[in-house]
Amino acid sequence: MNDPTVLVVGGGVTGAGTARDLALRGVDVTLVDRAGLGSGTSGRSHGLLHSGARYAESDFEGARECLEENRILREIAGACIRETGGLFVQLAADDPDYFDIKRDRCASIGIPTRVLDGDEAGAIVPELSDDVARAMEVPDAVVYPSRLVAANAADARDHGATIAVGAPVGGMTVTDGRITSVELGGERIEPDYVINAAGAWADRIATMVGLDIEMRLTRGVMISIEYDDLGPVLNRCRPPNDGDIIVPHGSAVVLGTTSVPVADPDDHPIEDWEIERTRRECGAMLPSIVDAPDGRTWWGVRPLYAPDEDGCNGRGISRGFFRLDHAEDDVENFASIVGGKLTTYRKMAQETADLACERLGIDAECTTAERRLPGSDDPAQLDAFVSEFDGQGPTDADVVGSER
Ligand SMILES: Cc1cc2nc3c(=O)[nH]c(=O)nc-3n(C[C@H](O)[C@H](O)[C@H](O)COP(=O)(O)OP(=O)(O)OC[C@H]3O[C@@H](n4cnc5c(N)ncnc54)[C@H](O)[C@@H]3O)c2cc1C
Repeated sequence: MNDPTVLVVGGGVTGAGTARDLALRGVDVTLVDRAGLGSGTSGRSHGLLHSGARYAESDFEGARECLEENRILREIAGACIRETGGLFVQLAADDPDYFDIKRDRCASIGIPTRVLDGDEAGAIVPELSDDVARAMEVPDAVVYPSRLVAANAADARDHGATIAVGAPVGGMTVTDGRITSVELGGERIEPDYVINAAGAWADRIATMVGLDIEMRLTRGVMISIEYDDLGPVLNRCRPPNDGDIIVPHGSAVVLGTTSVPVADPDDHPIEDWEIERTRRECGAMLPSIVDAPDGRTWWGVRPLYAPDEDGCNGRGISRGFFRLDHAEDDVENFASIVGGKLTTYRKMAQETADLACERLGIDAECTTAERRLPGSDDPAQLDAFVSEFDGQGPTDADVVGSER
């Protein structure tokens, strides 16, 4: 493999987005993943393109970022996204003040909402619980992560990037405060700059150069159940808790999720109570799913970063993203990008590419918000990219490949 100007470690949505951004700026970039693209958290998420409403009352800035990126992705990502809209559902036992605060905060951020009574909400989702007091329409959507990751990688490749799957980074050599070589699947390469986009594994990559990144990993369960034509994404309108989101994916719905601290992203116990609780809680919104036949189940691990939150149980940790310039830790040509959400990957990538360019003395603007992703109008082409990069994840397995 050639020695690239920039090596991006981790082929999830953040790494693929960063590789695309740099390649479009004319930078010689290599993107590597130890397995297929999206095989980490990205391909195992819920697939909800947030409107920002979920975070409106707790994280103004994060909610605003979601809204902005949601609008950009609707313009550039075509069939990586399905326009479904979303409903925040207040059940009879839920605090009405919470609903009102969320609606007001959405208004101040600019997230459009429309309040519906129980009958109006039931007209949109006929099997919605009779227990619904009110609902609020928001511009949530569904995102197919396998397609999104693969389309970003394809655009990077079309602009000169090298994409290597099954390429684990095994070690890095630091000489006089610079990474001078990287061990990659038995070979050594000598990039000028290294970006750590390894998500839940970011601390392991940082350890290779003697640094610590204080990740606070939490896992969440997903359950896919056959259910045709749900319509909008359903969110329970209460403080974030287990089992409060249902996302339509093709002829199924994906129920989620939980938030349980884990120490090792590759080796953590999986618990039946998470499945049972998620199904029961989601069933409070959509009762018919409680007794539906068992579907596919998988877990994902959130790459959360919280240097000051020792012992935090997970729900309270920020979902914001953090760009770490390790020049400040005496490794001059190294940066990490951690935390964040699938929805905000493009902005995370832009800020990371900005830093790399600044350090490398490259003067080139980000264009990722204006250029449509390749294949975005052609689901079959997107699914071919997914195959090319070994990128099929469980989240959208009921959709991706169905056009072939
Ligand atoms: C249960 C759950 C549900 C979620 N739902 C949503 C949602 O609905 N909407 C939303 O916006 N966000 C959601 N998120 C958050 C979102 O999925 C993540 O923030 C995002 O996918 C992280 O992407 P990433 O590229 O940073 O990390 P990853 O996708 O994990 O990518 C990191 C990559 O690094 C690779 N890697 C690791 N070690 C090495 C090595 N040594 N060498 C080479 N490669 C390596 C891994 O294989 C992996 O592919 C959810 C997260 C979870 C856990």
